[in-house]
Amino acid sequence: METRRDHDPASSAEEKFAEYLALRGKRLSRAQRELVRYIFSYHDHFTATKLIDDIRAKGMKISRATVYRTLARLVDAGLLRTHRFEDQVAYEHQYGYPEHDHLYCRNCGKIVEFTAPQLAELREHVAREHRFRAQSHRFIITGLCESCALQQARRRKVDFI
Ligand SMILES: [Zn+2]
Ligand SMILES: [Zn+2]
Repeated sequence: METRRDHDPASSAEEKFAEYLALRGKRLSRAQRELVRYIFSYHDHFTATKLIDDIRAKGMKISRATVYRTLARLVDAGLLRTHRFEDQVAYEHQYGYPEHDHLYCRNCGKIVEFTAPQLAELREHVAREHRFRAQSHRFIITGLCESCALQQARRRKVDFI
């Protein structure tokens, strides 16, 4: 039972990660600490490639190998989770962030978050039917975002003229 509340998600994620590593006889390196702080300083979906570009742009000197290793450990520690959107794998915060689902635009790659309590109800209903104890679910709506759908409609109109 946790009683202490830390209002800074970056520092509590860092603490959790340090605990996770300590249980495995490892220590949080300076590069890893810097990376974890950066990842948890804002909430967004990101790919490993985008993260590497971003930290390079910020002048942080962290090797690709460290980035990939740290991401894998953060997922294992339950601090990050991965989503597969068609051909790209995106990471996002698992720790301290409410459960939600996603819409994914197949044209521009835009990811939109939404919450629908009906999905949790459906999950419980299906799980009960199969005598299953549900812990989580993944639900992704793929298609076209509004601007991509408009663009496509306009292109079609031009084709008809
Ligand atoms: Zn789009
Ligand atoms: Zn999300």
